[in-house]
Amino acid sequence: MPKSSDIYEVYAVEYGHNVRSSRFNYIFPDPHDGPCLITYYVWVIQNQDRIIVVDIGFGHEAAAARGRELLRHPVDGLAAIGVDAAKVETVILTHMHFDHAGTTSSFPKARFVVQEKEMHFATGRDMRHAPCRMPFDVDNVTDLVRANFKERVHFVDGDQEIAPGVSVHLVGGHSRGLQMVRIQTPVGPLVLASDATHLYDNIVLKNPFPIVADLGQMCAGYERMFQLGASSDRVIPGHDPRVKEFYPKHRDDELTVHLSGELLAVPPFAQHADELLR
Ligand SMILES: [Zn+2]
Repeated sequence: MPKSSDIYEVYAVEYGHNVRSSRFNYIFPDPHDGPCLITYYVWVIQNQDRIIVVDIGFGHEAAAARGRELLRHPVDGLAAIGVDAAKVETVILTHMHFDHAGTTSSFPKARFVVQEKEMHFATGRDMRHAPCRMPFDVDNVTDLVRANFKERVHFVDGDQEIAPGVSVHLVGGHSRGLQMVRIQTPVGPLVLASDATHLYDNIVLKNPFPIVADLGQMCAGYERMFQLGASSDRVIPGHDPRVKEFYPKHRDDELTVHLSGELLAVPPFAQHADELLR
């Protein structure tokens, strides 16, 4: 049995969204192409001993430059549930895309947990190519290079426990160094898949997200996220607005979802559990 200090509550803090054609969310054209909502979240892992933030979102400048709607700065979202970004000591970056790694200066005390492969990808030869660098922002990347020079980047190569009950798992696919996070919670292990799957339907419809560094790895990730010990109703996609239908709201904040809380309805992965867990 894990100790209580190794068990955490997990929250998804919504801070922005984007309405766009579903063509932007699925690699194969959809005959019923229509508007599709993408939600932007940062995540919080919390117990009496520690707070870990997973991904840090983007700020007003990136929202304006890329035509995304910011409902609030991610830091204000964290503040709404009592998390002071200025005091956070551990930030796990699932990957370095602009919408996951854009507010490093708001976390002056943090150590950033990044896969080595992601830093290599974001600073290496692939960034010569416009389609490869499109989801990255050079200022976010250089901020992390600067953080490394200040000994504030914790590199992982593969899978590693980051704190008791919290581990990261390299999956690649969408970005070369994308990692998922597994957390021990009162309802059992929970997996923050982040962009290993943006939407429930990328997996359910077998129609992956179109921004991809390695399609085979991405599809292998669709299997891996169900092999990390979580039940299929506690595997959480990175950008799906429907997450808010299945888990309760935080008592202090309408835009935050309590992922380790009671289930309000059966999430799509659980409806397809036999197929996914085989
Ligand atoms: Zn991404």
